[in-house]
Amino acid sequence: MKYYIIFGPPGAGKGTQAAPLAQNYNLKHISTGELLRAEIAEGSALGIQAKALIEKGQLVPDEVVEGMIARAFGKYRDVDGFLLDGFPRTLTQAMELDEMLEARDEGITAVISLMIPDEVVKERIAHRALLENRKDDASDAVVENRIATYHRQTEPLIEFYKEKGVYHEVDSLGSIEEVAANIRSLMDSL
Ligand code: AMP
Repeated sequence: MKYYIIFGPPGAGKGTQAAPLAQNYNLKHISTGELLRAEIAEGSALGIQAKALIEKGQLVPDEVVEGMIARAFGKYRDVDGFLLDGFPRTLTQAMELDEMLEARDEGITAVISLMIPDEVVKERIAHRALLENRKDDASDAVVENRIATYHRQTEPLIEFYKEKGVYHEVDSLGSIEEVAANIRSLMDSL
């Protein structure tokens, strides 16, 4: 099994890129953000807890998303691997993921890091707010908070994965098709 992580700040294009990539490479795309939004739509207890945090631009507790990933690993077996989108977002999650993979005698294949400056992130999120009804995209203060959360809690993962030799950067400034081509050429070269 291959285990890819698509990594980057909010608005970098992770979800947009992940869905067609997963299809091309027969991977199961797992977006913890989408799974959480589905829980919110259902009105489950977990969704109610997650909603308050997501709408403030904060992360949900590590155990919640770790459980989602563990369940997905157990559930999808007819694929060549997984494409994780929005997970891991903290060092604790990254270490837990390592343990889950070690228990299966597996490891991370590659971390694909979408590189984009904060100013462009803000423009893209403002555009997405018009297209998708995401409350966490609609307020400037919440977007600022998500970007700050990314720098504080998620960016340290870059060093973690660099040390493991699985970290790769891709320019994410071009069109959707250009970025997709950059990612595919990286994946094909691995
Ligand atoms: P996303 O769709 O990936 O931008 O995620 C939307 C929101 O869901 C984030 O701003 C977090 O509040 C929450 N979330 C998604 N994935 C995680 C994660 N791995 N750890 C903690 N919170 C998460």
